[in-house]
Amino acid sequence: MTEAAFRPIDDVGLRLPKGMPEDIAEPFLEYVVGKAGTLRGSAAPMAEPMAKESPLARLRFVLDIAKQHVLPGTDAIVQEFANAPAKIECRAGCSFCCHQNVDVTIPEAILIALRLADPEDPRRSAVLSAAEAFAGVEDDARIALGRPCPLLIDKRCSVYEDRPIACRSLTSPDAERCDDAMRSLEAGEGVLPIEVYLVLQFLCNGEQSAMRGICRDVGLQDDIVELTQTVAAILRDETLVERWAKGERVFTPRD
Ligand code: SF4
Repeated sequence: MTEAAFRPIDDVGLRLPKGMPEDIAEPFLEYVVGKAGTLRGSAAPMAEPMAKESPLARLRFVLDIAKQHVLPGTDAIVQEFANAPAKIECRAGCSFCCHQNVDVTIPEAILIALRLADPEDPRRSAVLSAAEAFAGVEDDARIALGRPCPLLIDKRCSVYEDRPIACRSLTSPDAERCDDAMRSLEAGEGVLPIEVYLVLQFLCNGEQSAMRGICRDVGLQDDIVELTQTVAAILRDETLVERWAKGERVFTPRD
């Protein structure tokens, strides 16, 4: 991508993580908005002509931006945060956070659906069954179900390289509390609160906003959607991605 002018993200907004107070310090807010606007701006010179290209070219363009820039950009933010005095205790095998609804941009969901393209992949039926079980279930109730993301296999994310921004940014300074919460969930003893870095989630929500803005610049539906429901919808209807790439609003927004 090119060094380009800042492009505001006002039209797509910036989501506040659940539980984060609204009175965010102005310089911090400006920093997050600036970073997102710069990422969107760096794609803009290619995105706008791309709006006139074929649906396949547009699809390739946004998936490439997601994979080459937005997801690595999220990792860089998380790494920078981890290098600061903040300690992140998340590790492989720890999976309490994989029991939640996951808010994603549409390209993120498509990247994951593409990984399930093999008709023999057992995760396909797991996603379809989970989508049915989770349909209409609110965030808190979803955790209380105690049923993990269908992409979690042996307590490991089976799509780790393409896991969404929301999964990358959900981090904790206290693994012991997550372990306690997991044990309580498994024992059917209810949902215990865990500690997460809301500030890091907010920083990474800027990447989501940039991705949404880039979709919008290319003329594509740019809503935030729920991961399991959207991947299941793509698996059920093979025409959805093509229709989305043509500019149709085919996915159910989260908000
Ligand atoms: S996509 Fe991976 S990291 Fe995200 S909730 Fe599912 S299993 Fe967990």
